[in-house]
Amino acid sequence: MYTPVTPYTQVYCPSCSGYHGLGWQKAIPHAKRLMQRMAHRETIQLFETVSHDLDLLQTDWLFGDARGKMFGVLVGQTDQGKECVCYAFSGQYRGLWSVPGWVDPVFDTAAFERMTRETEREIKTLTRQLAKLDPADKLFRQIKQHRKHLSKTLMKEIHSLYELRNFRGQCRPLMDVFSSGGIPPTGTGDCCAPKLIHHAVLNNIKPKGMVEFYWGRSNRSETRQHGCFYPPCQEKCMPILGFLFCGMEEKTEKNIYA
Ligand SMILES: [Zn+2]
Ligand SMILES: [Zn+2]
Repeated sequence: MYTPVTPYTQVYCPSCSGYHGLGWQKAIPHAKRLMQRMAHRETIQLFETVSHDLDLLQTDWLFGDARGKMFGVLVGQTDQGKECVCYAFSGQYRGLWSVPGWVDPVFDTAAFERMTRETEREIKTLTRQLAKLDPADKLFRQIKQHRKHLSKTLMKEIHSLYELRNFRGQCRPLMDVFSSGGIPPTGTGDCCAPKLIHHAVLNNIKPKGMVEFYWGRSNRSETRQHGCFYPPCQEKCMPILGFLFCGMEEKTEKNIYA
């Protein structure tokens, strides 16, 4: 049932020009427990009392047209020396950025909503106008160009909301951290691994292990299977994980010799 996992090793860090890594073994039992819970209860609800509509948290939609999703688990140690387990889902869960018991996104969700609402409305209006025009028309090309410009600008604005922090206390915009150069693909920073590490940094948690698995109907290209573990994605996560991991080893060592 489980595919072998490439651990988070040898991740290049542009901050110290070194390589960092994190094992996955210690997180596997916790991830399996989460899978059992989700399989049994058919919901991602972790607390008995939760403010969201409970229907939204059900897992049935992951097996339908929307298809499945990546989930992540990080096990670590708090500054009081206690073990703690953190949970993440990639991106949004049925339109929700935040669900109690799951780590928050790496950006300010309120600012994100403000930014996107206005521009998305404008883009929709342009799309409606385009539908009424002949593609050979000069106006069609102008509107199309304008729409392209709007979405490009929005993407840049959204990226500016993402500020990544690491264990060395460094805080940098996502654009500066992205080590493979160019513009980061949409959704960079929304995967489970960056969300979990960001949460660990903010809450002084020393990571001991992390793992990501897929839950639900396979993606269209069939590269993701229900209940299987997967390494971090090459296109979005690998270019930023090195920076996020930076300082993590020192933190762990300090703890060992304390
Ligand atoms: Zn990823
Ligand atoms: Zn580093």
